[in-house]
Amino acid sequence: MLPGAVLDTIKEDLLDWHGCGMSVLEMTHRGIEFGSIIKQAEADLRDLLHIPANYHVLFLQGGGHLQFAMVPLNLLGTRHCADYVSTGYWSERAMTDARQYGLVNVAASSESTGYDRIPPFEEWRLSQDAAFVHYVSNDTAAGVEFSWIPDIVAVPLVADMSTNLLTKRIVVAKHALIYACAQKNVGVAGLTIVIIRDEVVGRALPITPRMLDYKCHVDNASMFNTPCTFAVYVAGLVLAWIKKEGGLEAMDKRHREMSAKLYRFLDGSSLFENRVVRDDRSRINVPFKLRRPGLEDKFIEYAKANGLVNLRGNLALGLRASMYNAMTMQGVERLIEAMGEFERIHA
Ligand SMILES: *Cc1c(COP(=O)(O)O)cnc(C)c1O
Repeated sequence: MLPGAVLDTIKEDLLDWHGCGMSVLEMTHRGIEFGSIIKQAEADLRDLLHIPANYHVLFLQGGGHLQFAMVPLNLLGTRHCADYVSTGYWSERAMTDARQYGLVNVAASSESTGYDRIPPFEEWRLSQDAAFVHYVSNDTAAGVEFSWIPDIVAVPLVADMSTNLLTKRIVVAKHALIYACAQKNVGVAGLTIVIIRDEVVGRALPITPRMLDYKCHVDNASMFNTPCTFAVYVAGLVLAWIKKEGGLEAMDKRHREMSAKLYRFLDGSSLFENRVVRDDRSRINVPFKLRRPGLEDKFIEYAKANGLVNLRGNLALGLRASMYNAMTMQGVERLIEAMGEFERIHA
């Protein structure tokens, strides 16, 4: 979802942005108009996340998936090994790419319990010679979220924050690199945000294509080639909207309240359930199952008839309610109401 106010602005701006006679869809990325859009987006992102001055903000393309390759290509350096923590589907996908370029040490994994938790830090088996440590701060499919930041100081810490960047306050400085595709919480598909500490820029393996070298994008202020101008513009509108709504504290409060309400319903339901360990439950993505087999398709149909869509999770992973930044409590209440009604019909 995008906030309604953002959609309204896009509609208003679409044919003629701020009276300049052009649509954002038509602008050159080298012009002063787009220059002001991307600069404001970066300033608002820095402001919201309190990004320290020794970090670069990059507006790239290729989605989260390209970061799965760019991270090892740029950070492995002369070391050949990296530590990955597996908390589900997305960690596994990141590791698949990393294995093309080096050794992946699975420092911790919750696979044996069906990715129903975050492995406690005391159990992580970090290697001596890792070039970096990678974790996924919120696994979209498993519905598990870190409520803490791993205390890694000796090597660069890398986080995939695709589904929870800008949903709460974080300490950027604990990470060497943070990445997030924009289409979950910050706008539309096409844009990937990378926040990278200056000291880890410029270490890419010699085989790295220039387009995949962070240094190339740092040196060219995200304009080495044509950036995804419209997606950057939409992200800028969403960032301004977040500020206006009260910033990251307000987003966090909403996510806590919405998810708590949904978990409370699921825990009291005789038909629906969520099996994630309480302390590690995501504030953003809530996967759920029906205790009785054969009812899933019926529920999807019932929900759709009640105006509730996109409740299918990844592939065969069941049902999921995703509550990204634009979701409202009203939307969550509609879902709970429909689930309750469905439960009564099928009791
Ligand atoms: C959606 C998602 C991605 C990347 O998706 P792309 O389709 O490549 O943009 C990466 N990590 C997580 C945790 C995600 O939820």
